[in-house]
Amino acid sequence: MRKVFQVIPLGGCGEIGMNLTLWCVDDSYYFVDCGTLFADEHHPGMDLIFPSLDCLRERGIKPTAWLITHGHEDHIGALPYVYEEFPAPIYTTLFTAELIKEKFRGLERPAPDIHVWQVWQRTAFRNAAVTPFPVNHSIPDACGLYFETKYGNLLHTGDYRIDRSAPEGSMTLDNLTRVTAGRETLLMTADSTNVFVPGTDREEQQIATNLVKIFADVRGRVVVATFASNIWRVKSAFHAARASGRKVVLLGRSLLRNYDISKKLGLMSEFEEGLVVGQEELKLLQPSEVCVICTGTQGEVFSGANRLAFGSLDSLRLDGDDLVILSARAIPGNEKSIGILINQFWRIGCRVITGKEAEVHVSGHGYAQDLMDSIALVKPKYFMPLHGEFRNLVHHIRLANKAGVPPESCHLVENGDVLTIAPDALGVIDRWDVGRDFVGSDRVISGSADVLRNRVMLAKNGIVEISFVVDSTLSRMLDEAKIAVRGVNVSADRVSDALKSSFRSLMRAQRKGAWTPESLSEELRIAVRRELEADVGYKCVVSLFVHRI
Ligand SMILES: [Zn+2]
Ligand SMILES: [Zn+2]
Repeated sequence: MRKVFQVIPLGGCGEIGMNLTLWCVDDSYYFVDCGTLFADEHHPGMDLIFPSLDCLRERGIKPTAWLITHGHEDHIGALPYVYEEFPAPIYTTLFTAELIKEKFRGLERPAPDIHVWQVWQRTAFRNAAVTPFPVNHSIPDACGLYFETKYGNLLHTGDYRIDRSAPEGSMTLDNLTRVTAGRETLLMTADSTNVFVPGTDREEQQIATNLVKIFADVRGRVVVATFASNIWRVKSAFHAARASGRKVVLLGRSLLRNYDISKKLGLMSEFEEGLVVGQEELKLLQPSEVCVICTGTQGEVFSGANRLAFGSLDSLRLDGDDLVILSARAIPGNEKSIGILINQFWRIGCRVITGKEAEVHVSGHGYAQDLMDSIALVKPKYFMPLHGEFRNLVHHIRLANKAGVPPESCHLVENGDVLTIAPDALGVIDRWDVGRDFVGSDRVISGSADVLRNRVMLAKNGIVEISFVVDSTLSRMLDEAKIAVRGVNVSADRVSDALKSSFRSLMRAQRKGAWTPESLSEELRIAVRRELEADVGYKCVVSLFVHRI
């Protein structure tokens, strides 16, 4: 058996999203997180992206266990799509477990084998042990992982921020102190999301205070849009609603589901029954008695915020006295759809406040000083940034240097790099090819790369389809060709002319009987495309079928 301790990121080192890292101890592989990235306009018809696991199939690698840090999509989103082929017990906290179960149910997958662990509960495996410790983040039950092996210990921060009056009840820095006390940390891997933001993150408590002030001045309804999993923000809005004598209506299935889970976990115990009411009770309330919490901060089409803005909700029509608060950051790439949403709210007369106009949002990821404080506290022998684009990773290493980890002890690792840290090598000694897989309409698209290439090509160029019949000697066209032009700036008549002239020149160029249906079809396709290029200005896709009778 080989003796080795390796860290191999398959996703999340080069992008913010689709996190998946393998921790390899001898012959065991611990899979940490399994997330997705949202597809954008460069991926027509695709909804989600996640790391391709072909590199594991080729090597016959299966997980010993899945270790899941928290319930954000970039950490759990791909689990339902890969779990059946890569089954192993999933270890995670209660809130995360509920979200994972819900995800599998929603996609009609068999329930996974989930082991709910308590934070600080050390779980021993055959050749390693792991202790989840709580960290502050924008979702309940987020944890970092302390991973013990005979080669040394690894501290993985997970996604985290530092909140000095944390809604979680304990602060990340205190928990880092506790988990590292009395032991050496060989390697620290850490969240690089906000490396470029100087200083320290603010407190959720401050947002609650700000919302109370803002709510008090509104004559009509207040709408707070946030992420459904950001229970701390939902609670801040609850506080402000109660302080201004408003009832709360939760709009959206995911919000209601997460509210139920939070109640089950006791996270809502300080709020009296009756604060949250159903939509049907709205007609009994004055606008000044209403606070609506909804999803849709990114301008998503089917979200609560979108339905409110475009007036598609009969029970609730906003008007000029109402205020809309977008209490979340704009995820890069979503600016346009957020702009459409905000404009529409203004169009129907509402005022809109975002993080630009008032302090209505704090980040779930620590700022530069927070990250340096954490590294200085852990004092790892080696440091490896993850959860970031390449530039984030580079900058995080600079922060680590300032925090006392020398440059030669920091490892800049990208997806597929095999970082060996023990026992007899240190550094990236191998590289796996890691592609990307896609999900469209809830299904993994097999051969994603080819499908995507074709979709992009068709979306950009359009297609001309030609089908026609030739005689048995392949020298005479019978009847008119059937032609379909989709998304190309040329008429079917012009294509027909190009086909006939190309056919004639090919017949002149080669003697009768020298063609096969395949060679004729291919040469003709190329000739027609060349002729159309003069008209349309580029090589469009031509699909051509020759039928011989
Ligand atoms: Zn997160
Ligand atoms: Zn994340």
